[in-house]
Amino acid sequence: MDEKINEFRKLSWEIRNCKKCRLWKTRTHALPGEGSLSSKLMIIAQAPGYTEDREGRMFVGPSGKKLDRLFEKASISRDEIFMTNLVKCVLPHNRKPRPDEIETCARYLDRELDLVNPTIVATLGYFPARYIFKKFGIEDKLDFPKVCGKVFSVGFKKIVPLGHPAALLYHSSLEEKMVENYKTLRKLLDSV
Ligand code: SF4
Repeated sequence: MDEKINEFRKLSWEIRNCKKCRLWKTRTHALPGEGSLSSKLMIIAQAPGYTEDREGRMFVGPSGKKLDRLFEKASISRDEIFMTNLVKCVLPHNRKPRPDEIETCARYLDRELDLVNPTIVATLGYFPARYIFKKFGIEDKLDFPKVCGKVFSVGFKKIVPLGHPAALLYHSSLEEKMVENYKTLRKLLDSV
């Protein structure tokens, strides 16, 4: 475990100091993943939001509050999971990540996946799902509405594409469905 912690510290330092794509110029903090290194569940969002960029922590802004509510309703604790982003720096004006930014930054995500080796990988939103689907050879063309909330098995791993909790800021009617999705994660966690 000491070796794992050291490797994680090294990786986090590299991310915090990274200037490998244009996004370093507009960020305040690059955000490495955070949480339990022995977690069975990794949650992958798209990129830090405005508040997360300012404070240098995962999911501390408005969508983080929505996520905490979903966790609470599904009896999931932040302490038992590992959370990270596909792209580690904030995207200016909330724009979509560009292909070269994903390609460059996802190398860090790949290393986090190797290090934590979670059995369950839940993605939040389209871009993380597309990356993970390609990585694990599930589908080349992602029909996101069709796959959202379903569980895909790849060897011993379970891949679960989910909507982003930020959607609840504008569409509160989605909450019931999202709570069900997080209860599915709870059941998967209890079964591995
Ligand atoms: S987005 Fe990723 S690759 Fe680009 S500067 Fe930030 S940490 Fe580095």
